[in-house]
Amino acid sequence: LPPEFEAAKPILATIEAAGYEAYFVGGCVRDTILGKPLHDVDIATSAFPAEVKGLFKRTVDTGIEHGTVMILDHGEGYETTTFRTESGYQDFRRPDQVTFVRSLKEDLKRRDFTINALAMKANGEVIDLFDGLADLKAGVLRAVGVAEDRFHEDALRMMRAVRFASQLDFAIEPATEAAVKDNAALLTKIAVERTRVEWEKLLMGQQPTRGLQALVRTDLYRYMPLMADQQAMLTKLIELPAWQLTSIESTWTMLSWLMGDTSGVAVRKLLKAWKTSNELIDHVTAATAVLSALNATGTLSARELFDAGAAALTTANQVADILGFGVDQTELMANYAALPIQNKRDLAINGGDLIKQQVVTPGPAMGQILAQLLAAVVTGKVANQYDELLDFARMVTDTKNN
Ligand code: ATP
Ligand code: MG
Repeated sequence: LPPEFEAAKPILATIEAAGYEAYFVGGCVRDTILGKPLHDVDIATSAFPAEVKGLFKRTVDTGIEHGTVMILDHGEGYETTTFRTESGYQDFRRPDQVTFVRSLKEDLKRRDFTINALAMKANGEVIDLFDGLADLKAGVLRAVGVAEDRFHEDALRMMRAVRFASQLDFAIEPATEAAVKDNAALLTKIAVERTRVEWEKLLMGQQPTRGLQALVRTDLYRYMPLMADQQAMLTKLIELPAWQLTSIESTWTMLSWLMGDTSGVAVRKLLKAWKTSNELIDHVTAATAVLSALNATGTLSARELFDAGAAALTTANQVADILGFGVDQTELMANYAALPIQNKRDLAINGGDLIKQQVVTPGPAMGQILAQLLAAVVTGKVANQYDELLDFARMVTDTKNN
């Protein structure tokens, strides 16, 4: 057992000692059997939420209406969910009703794929009621039950299928894939933010081309924001020599680049459609501009380095490496570090100084002068020193006034 399971054993033992069943379930069991690192340990139990809470000193109601209670133990939190069935799904995304049950089988039946419907006892024994082990060994993603019905219940599962194909390098079983193709349009029922998480995980998976090929074969991409006419772009991505994207920033930078319009307006439009944060929009806009410059000239000016900042430069260079025009990362960072200043705030003079010295009065003119001062310092024309900057500011305003 992995150390995460060893550490959680006393929790299962406490629940069992009270006469209930408790198992590790879902992704953590799958990843344990595959020998992959775990990111969360999920526990399922026949005990009802109130019963779980009665057994432990410290719990938090993280999702009590769905039966989830977090048990706090030696500084760790363990999500513990009562066995449940789901019904309703009138909106193709969320069950109208959740019912707590005492049967593990009922709980495993509601899970998306057979490899995610495995349970494990504290002693390591695997409970495999839907032949998930065979699929895990064969590298197959197969819906639990009738795929068509399962995607009708929750259309996000279709995105999860292509995401796992990429993350695990698994094949989607033919009937399951056919059901994705037949129901792809239901993806529009799902909140963009949830689709985005799966899309980013797909792009950062170990075998992204596998997920992308499935996405194209099933037409699922047609129902993702601004992707309906992007088959050629996706094909380009699929045909790039083996690649790996390791950050959310780099996935969006790659997509922005391949979509062909590297303007800030286009990048913003894409990321807005996917409802990303403004921070990500700024980062990707900067990184995409760097890609343009690198691709055009193979090098970056002081101004381009300054405008991008270290983080966007790193993202851009990772993507440029995949595209075949990356530069030496150490040298890139050295060039950035060698800039006279790395940040606007580091300018040795500010607006207040200019007013005090009666170079300028508050207003738009001041912004323009500060921009000129910044440009002069970044490009090395003027040293970043108060007196020199003041002289330069006076010279600039004199020229303008005469
Ligand atoms: P990872 O955590 O690596 O992204 P995971 O399979 O653990 O993958 P979670 O979202 O953590 O995914 O969900 C835990 C488990 O809950 C899954 O393994 C699966 O059994 C079940 N599950 C999650 N989402 C769904 C869904 N949309 N439909 C059915 N079952 C789901
Ligand atoms: Mg998980």
